[in-house]
Amino acid sequence: MSKNILQDALSRLSSIAQNHSEYNAILEALSQPHSTLTSHIAIRKDNGTTAYFKAYRCRYNDLLGPTKGGVRFHQDADQSEVEALALWMTLKCAVVGVPFGGAKGAVTVDPKKLSPMELERLARAYIRANADFIGPQLDIPAPDVYTNARIMGWMMDEYEKITRTKCPAVITGKPIAFGGSLGRDSATGRGAFLCIDALAKKLSWDAQDKTVAIQGFGNGGYHCARLLQKAGYKVVAVSDSKGGIYSEQGLDIESVYSEKQRSNTLRAVYCQHSVCEDVEHTRISNEELLALNVDILVPAALAGVIHSANAKQIQANYIVEIANGPITSDVDQQLREQGTHVIPDILANAGGVIVSFFEWCQNRQGEAWPEKKVHEKLGQYMNDAFERAWQRYQEHDDSMRVVVYKLALQKLCEALEAHGTAD
Ligand code: GLU
Repeated sequence: MSKNILQDALSRLSSIAQNHSEYNAILEALSQPHSTLTSHIAIRKDNGTTAYFKAYRCRYNDLLGPTKGGVRFHQDADQSEVEALALWMTLKCAVVGVPFGGAKGAVTVDPKKLSPMELERLARAYIRANADFIGPQLDIPAPDVYTNARIMGWMMDEYEKITRTKCPAVITGKPIAFGGSLGRDSATGRGAFLCIDALAKKLSWDAQDKTVAIQGFGNGGYHCARLLQKAGYKVVAVSDSKGGIYSEQGLDIESVYSEKQRSNTLRAVYCQHSVCEDVEHTRISNEELLALNVDILVPAALAGVIHSANAKQIQANYIVEIANGPITSDVDQQLREQGTHVIPDILANAGGVIVSFFEWCQNRQGEAWPEKKVHEKLGQYMNDAFERAWQRYQEHDDSMRVVVYKLALQKLCEALEAHGTAD
């Protein structure tokens, strides 16, 4: 996305809050990030040379608690994106009722070009640069785009070495053996599935009649696709960064996933014809996937993929945002006029941070909850948040995004009021 993404996020926020003077104070508080630490970090490459990378950690706002948010490793990451993502984390935690503020981190790097050893050195270097900025009651990182439990494990280990303490609650999304929570890995996709399920109940949908296209087959997209298929939905298309596959009869998600694991790309799945042998499937581009005539479109990759140049091609009735910020703010109104309803990211993808909160609670209490308990509690948090949004949606002539943003602003307003002014 070429436009400054933080400016886009802030302009959406102020247009939602306009004509609501009760939001003036919180809008001012959110008009800039509290602080962003930028660093230039170095790692030794396997060939003995040194490579340098730009790294960021933004703590956007901590009115509701210690700040929380993932760290992404991506070649296009920059300060504006990290800050926008940290703002969205602030709103996300507020809307689903977890006692965290918002943060985000990133390293500008193509992680596919690093060996596992180099990745480990990068994860550790990131923590060395940010160790004074994070902490279990200060700021708690987690996985995000192209980072995972293994990387979180290295980060936690480095933090513990620096502080000479045992401190599992400093990072969530860790390996289970290191204090990670059961159910965290699938939590983002499961949360989005629970949102779709809650919507289906409200609208008396029959899952068998509904078609879904999912852009992005990473952690969030895969688990959501798997759960949707299990519930009877027809997932007709999935894609990764190189392109996607489409089948009118619906794809078998587990076969596609295991084939992608084996060969690393969905393109190979298509060429490979060993999956879905009995199912006709064709290759499609990411742009074609977004324009499919499906009931539910799930953008689950990166920000800004639906914008002024392609919004009019969208045919789906519902968009469920697993990615953070997949729709630019300038097309919010256009999509509404086209009859496309959007379940916004700060609700639809909140499953990850909700289970991160459960992981943090377990670490602080020295407990390890059974997976069933994690799933049940995630269900309660998602359903409660969805229900609050739905009630308001029924009562007001607003889009789901506007409703959800207003709920978040209201919560943050109350916290701002309660904090008072410490002059
Ligand atoms: N990276 C995830 C998100 O964008 C999870 C953050 C967390 O668990 O702290 O919501």
